[in-house]
Amino acid sequence: MVTLTTSGSVLSYTPSFELLNRWVIEKQICCYCGTCAGVCPRIVLNGKVPRLIDYCSECGNCYKYCPQTYTPVNEFERKIFPGTNKEEYLGYYEKCIFAQSTDKSILSVAQNGGLVSALLIHALETGLIDGAILTITDKNWMPKPMLARTPEEIKRAAGSKYVMSPNMLIYREVINDPTIKKVAVVGLPCQIRAARKLQMEPIIPVENGKIEFIIGLFCHRNFSYEGLLETVKKILNIDLYEVKKFDIRKGKFTILTQEGKQVELPVKELSKHSWSSCASCTDFTGRLADISVGNVGIIDVDWSLAIVRSKKAMELLDSAVKAGKLRIAEGKDAIEVILKEAQKKAERREKVSELLYQYFSELGIPSDEVRAYFTLLTLGGASSEELSKALNIGGAELDAILARLCEKGWTVKHEDRYIPTRPSLVLRIEVTKFHNLIKKVLEKESELEGIYARKFG
Ligand SMILES: Cc1cc2nc3c(=O)[nH]c(=O)nc-3n(C[C@H](O)[C@H](O)[C@H](O)COP(=O)(O)OP(=O)(O)OC[C@H]3O[C@@H](n4cnc5c(N)ncnc54)[C@H](O)[C@@H]3O)c2cc1C
Ligand code: SF4
Ligand code: SF4
Ligand code: SF4
Repeated sequence: MVTLTTSGSVLSYTPSFELLNRWVIEKQICCYCGTCAGVCPRIVLNGKVPRLIDYCSECGNCYKYCPQTYTPVNEFERKIFPGTNKEEYLGYYEKCIFAQSTDKSILSVAQNGGLVSALLIHALETGLIDGAILTITDKNWMPKPMLARTPEEIKRAAGSKYVMSPNMLIYREVINDPTIKKVAVVGLPCQIRAARKLQMEPIIPVENGKIEFIIGLFCHRNFSYEGLLETVKKILNIDLYEVKKFDIRKGKFTILTQEGKQVELPVKELSKHSWSSCASCTDFTGRLADISVGNVGIIDVDWSLAIVRSKKAMELLDSAVKAGKLRIAEGKDAIEVILKEAQKKAERREKVSELLYQYFSELGIPSDEVRAYFTLLTLGGASSEELSKALNIGGAELDAILARLCEKGWTVKHEDRYIPTRPSLVLRIEVTKFHNLIKKVLEKESELEGIYARKFG
């Protein structure tokens, strides 16, 4: 239970399915990762959203492990990547590389250079993992999670599926399988957040299914299955089972059919089919992954590009190169391209409605303070440099605003970051101030009444 106390009022939040429903599902920021159903048998997925089908005991697990609720990103980053360099938009990383599998059977099924599949196979063969949580589709491109246990199964899952897949649903199976002691997770940045939460704060002391290695995929957006289906039907007048490969690169969505026909259309034309949670998603690279892989900035589609973050990822990569399973090239220049994409996505952060600005202004609260507070809220806290970039103000002006926010209890400074106070508390601080003011005015009511009475009777 989360309890807040402010001048006599106590606000209680019990993390439960009701809260998950109210703050994530109904707000349409559920990314359909499957984690809630993966940690609770009382939750089922209906293809679009999770649903509660039984009594909720309010244990809070679904809420805690959902990637769209609070994730202590900075704290996790400090623990996972000690001593690594940090870049504001990309997170921590050691280096950026281009990589390609040396195995033709991987390259023939991979989306790009097969780095993801080759690393997983190497991890399996060297005993780092016993299995991996991956995404497969049926012949109609309907995605579903798979626990891959063999190199063949890893290859079967290769290739990008531009549809939401509830991968973490299979976590239930993984922790109940005594043959899977250590597992890897491959996922989009949203799915990676859930995997890292499960790894860093396990539900139960983990005997099986310890999350050992996390591979993130770069991601700007993903789509609904119905949207993809409609697009392919409309453009090609064919069914999804006739499609061999989908790809998104350089703003183009490409469809390659089994018969070798290739059609391209601007990704923008698919935007109406984007998954709703993608509209406010700010993580392009999957900053909590051990290694993040994508295709932006590659010259040849047969190569993958990666940001290598953790020591574990460095070691696995080096060992795969030494074993002759991967060839790599320095990707120093590519970092600028990734950074540009990451910055673009960071601007997508959740917006506060104009009406709220108006109401705060009607309460007489200075607009610069309101803007700074709302920005801190949507950034999830920030350093003064980050806030300065977001607000386009700096120096003494910003310092003065931040000092006022801290003084009135709207923000607290923790190390070099400004953390916004919970809105319900901020509102109560302001309502209390407003009440006190009204009380003072009413106490002076007789003074005005006296003047009125003397003049008008
Ligand atoms: C929805 C989506 C959006 C992407 N957007 C971008 C982008 O904007 N820019 C960019 O540079 N790269 C993007 N990528 C990453 C890119 O398409 C490749 O996945 C990446 O380059 C790795 O290629 P590879 O050959 O090394 O991987 P492979 O060896 O082909 O392995 C791919 C792995 O991805 C997993 N996977 C496939 N689809 C999904 C899915 N829907 N959810 C979770 N896991 C999945 C598979 O299980 C497989 O293990 C995106 C990928 C996806 C799935
Ligand atoms: S029982 Fe726990 S995990 Fe299941 S729905 Fe309720 S709060 Fe969520
Ligand atoms: S984002 Fe994942 S964990 Fe959160 S509600 Fe949706 S499916 Fe459940
Ligand atoms: S844009 Fe964000 S929410 Fe959407 S699929 Fe990618 S990582 Fe998940």
